Amino acid sequence: MANITKEDVLDRLRSVTAPNGGDIVSAGIVSDIFVTGGKVMFSITVPADQANGMEPLRRAAEVAVKGIPGVESAMVVLTAEKKAPAVGGPSPQPAASRSPAGRPAAAPGGGRAGIPGVGAIIAVASGKGGVGKSTTAVNLALALKANGLRVGILDADIYGPSLPRLLALKEKPQVVSGRILRPLDAYGVKAMSIGLLVEEETPMIWRGPMVISALTQMLREVEWGELDILVVDMPPGTGDAQLTMAQQVPLAGAVIVSTPQDLALIDARKGLNMFRRVDVPVLGIVENMSYFVCPHCGGRTDIFAHGGARHEAARLDVPFLGEIPLDLGIRLSSDAGKPVVVADPEGAHAAIYRKIATEVWNGVEAARSGGRRPPRIVVE
Ligand code: ADP
Repeated sequence: MANITKEDVLDRLRSVTAPNGGDIVSAGIVSDIFVTGGKVMFSITVPADQANGMEPLRRAAEVAVKGIPGVESAMVVLTAEKKAPAVGGPSPQPAASRSPAGRPAAAPGGGRAGIPGVGAIIAVASGKGGVGKSTTAVNLALALKANGLRVGILDADIYGPSLPRLLALKEKPQVVSGRILRPLDAYGVKAMSIGLLVEEETPMIWRGPMVISALTQMLREVEWGELDILVVDMPPGTGDAQLTMAQQVPLAGAVIVSTPQDLALIDARKGLNMFRRVDVPVLGIVENMSYFVCPHCGGRTDIFAHGGARHEAARLDVPFLGEIPLDLGIRLSSDAGKPVVVADPEGAHAAIYRKIATEVWNGVEAARSGGRRPPRIVVE
């Protein structure tokens, strides 16, 4: 079977004319391209008000790609892009103007339009799966809430959406009007997950091209209301899909979760570099499963070479946000749909997450006021 590459697809798509002239590739409206065997998937971003008339464009792109030898099927979806109101535009008093900091929302890296009403969006990311990224994201969001902020959490982990499980979310989100969805409430935090929108049985390979359209939808077509901060649980890893997502979201900063093992730390470094490439300040590293406290004797064991993340953060000139122990209670509370920050708000673990939340919020404010430049990252 012919080995189709992304470049083959892009080359062919250069023959398709964009709505505003030129070809659709040069116009920058073609998403990341997924090729699996003979199947090709991607999306084309079009202005929302013209979306209805764009079927011929979609069809033309599909026909063009199907013409490549070896392509068995092409799935092309249109992604509607809503123009966000211009900064300083008529949007009624953005949340940020009433945020605890009293500062207006800054346009974050790359000039990506923010979400009206949402003061800051931060990503929680990891170099690889299984390090506790989602557990950290959820507890961080609840800790930000416990610290008095208005908080939302968006589960953008297309490979393994875990928010419905972690927060015991069962209902389908209601449509408010048109395409706008109402987020669910989880312990006072507004929550939305791709897992609530996509059937669990949907094969992964079909999810790929939906990444961008689903992410855009979850960001811009959800009634987030007025939030100080929206935490986005990113898919693990640093591949094309993650990079595209980081580019699509107007991020105020990123938090990297890592375990102490060397390998995970190397992966964490990739995460740092990814955000640097898209000009997003790295707010810091969290070391998860940092040490083990015996539930029987209370003795502490450093299962892995503990302190690796702290050391690495210093070396990379990135803030170190804190260490979270490997603890049965953290896992059990997550599995029960009531994360430790709300299950045991006075406990030691909740205190750790709240302290991390304070650091994160300080970092957001510092980055926003230009008080601190995004950290410099040394690449070997
Ligand atoms: P990721 O999002 O990185 O894939 P998860 O947050 O889903 O990781 O965590 C993977 C597993 O590890 C889950 O079963 C979770 O409950 C558990 N886990 C995460 N952090 C901790 C921790 N600090 N202590 C104990 N178990 C944890």
